[in-house]
Amino acid sequence: MKKIYLDNAATTPVFDEILEKIPEWSREYFANPNSIHSDGQKARRIIDESRRYIASVLNCEEEEIIFTSCATESNNTIIKGLAESYPEKNEIIVSPIEHKSVLNPVKYLTRKGYKVHFLKVDKNGLIDIDHLKNLINKKTLLVSVIHGNNETGVVQDVKEINRICKEKEIFFFSDTAQSFLKEDISDVDFLSVSGHKINAPKGIGFFKKRKNIKLTPLLHGGGQEFGLRSGTENVLGIKALAEAIKMWKENRNRFLQHLIELKKTFISLIEKELPGEEVVSQHVKTLPHIVSIIFRNVDAQTLIMALNAQGIEVSSGSACSSGTPSPSHVLLAYGFSEKEALSSVRFSFSIFNTQEEIEFTIIQLKNILNRLSNFPNLFSF
Ligand code: PMP
Repeated sequence: MKKIYLDNAATTPVFDEILEKIPEWSREYFANPNSIHSDGQKARRIIDESRRYIASVLNCEEEEIIFTSCATESNNTIIKGLAESYPEKNEIIVSPIEHKSVLNPVKYLTRKGYKVHFLKVDKNGLIDIDHLKNLINKKTLLVSVIHGNNETGVVQDVKEINRICKEKEIFFFSDTAQSFLKEDISDVDFLSVSGHKINAPKGIGFFKKRKNIKLTPLLHGGGQEFGLRSGTENVLGIKALAEAIKMWKENRNRFLQHLIELKKTFISLIEKELPGEEVVSQHVKTLPHIVSIIFRNVDAQTLIMALNAQGIEVSSGSACSSGTPSPSHVLLAYGFSEKEALSSVRFSFSIFNTQEEIEFTIIQLKNILNRLSNFPNLFSF
């Protein structure tokens, strides 16, 4: 059976051009970049070149790019590191629709006495900017608002949020793990990226930190990455990440156009073939590779398993631990009911998906939903 992978917000396949080069890079740049001999310096040069390139893409300085293992590590470093560096400020403003790798470090800080304000979110998934303005005060350490949501794709107005924070002289962090290279990113204090979301391998990411902002590292050790992330650098990962970004930059218009067309076909076929189902946040700006559908009469887990049996791989936003799914905190924050949140399925596309795959997926969805409606006892509700 042919597999159709529509779970690209979870992770993306690595570009073939990168996979092919990995054995060569592993041999060429095996040395420790902190060693002063020739091979060490060769590895160091690759890191420097990669950092220079990424800094040029983000239009920032090289020392503002700090390589980490992933967005989770970046997000933790930014949030906990800022708290340690600016102890006189003890309030955080955060959207309730952040990824757990932002919400959980913030929750950790509440146990240390920090006060957390959650921003209001409307039914379309947009945060309330006036609420943000009202919450900012002299005690605010940080404002954190995700750029493109990983479950619904909703894109926040980070440009405006950044402007407000700059005016009030408050640090602003935007998790850009899903939006990097797909949406333009304004000149924020902090942003985070995970390589495996943009066709680089897992185990590499980075964050951008505006220089002159103090940050206490999570890891203390050899002082690599300007003292902000000790540990021998992942040279291979850094090289692969820079190359993946280069591939995206060189083909950006074509890649984005392809994603936009896939999503357009998907949504128009849902509307035509499955008019009873709800496309989440259809009337606001969303990322070109993510769409969430709330299915009225079936729970997400059942549908995901049924699609999987047809070779179609998708995800839901629900966290599933000990066999019982809990509804997505993102959709609950939008105002959806638990039942609705438990019946949402995320379809996320990559540049490797085709129009035929999308059409096939809709046919299968329709068949599955018809079948399930004939056997209501299969429903989990
Ligand atoms: N932020 C967002 C928006 C994400 O989508 C993800 C991955 N799902 C992360 C952070 C965490 O990325 P990683 O698992 O690579 O650390």
